[in-house]
Amino acid sequence: PPDVDELGRATWTLVHAVAARYPDAPTATQKIQARRFFDALGDLYPCERCRVDFRADIDAHPPALASRAALSRWACERHNEVNRKLGKPEMSCALKDLDERWRKATTH
Ligand code: FAD
Repeated sequence: PPDVDELGRATWTLVHAVAARYPDAPTATQKIQARRFFDALGDLYPCERCRVDFRADIDAHPPALASRAALSRWACERHNEVNRKLGKPEMSCALKDLDERWRKATTH
């Protein structure tokens, strides 16, 4: 089975890539789907100490569903929250930096 670091890298890749390809002008249905995706992660993530804190963090900071720019920044801030908890460096949440890292590599 994957260890907690491998699981984390794989999950952040999915989370940031999903945010990077979220619509600029999502429909009501797409907003609900994105909300469900992050709620499910908080309920199902297979690392208990990770998901308990993640759930508390998304309760305090609900997903910013208005646009891909908003959701990309939100995901970056949630990742920085975990980085702080683990004593890792924080990353820039400027959209151009997030796009460079997470949007260019993904395809439609
Ligand atoms: P990761 O943190 O996995 O990051 C991968 C890459 O993302 C980095 O190389 C960098 O290029 C980029 N990146 C870094 N910061 C950001 C950012 N803010 N925005 C966008 N991109 C960024 N591990 C624990 O030990 N305890 C926990 O409680 C815990 N909770 C977690 C909760 C969640 C929801 C997730 C998804 C993971 C959690 N992890 C936890 C795993 C942890 O976040 C890391 O994935 C793991 O420690 C491996 O770290 P890493 O240094 O390889 O890089």
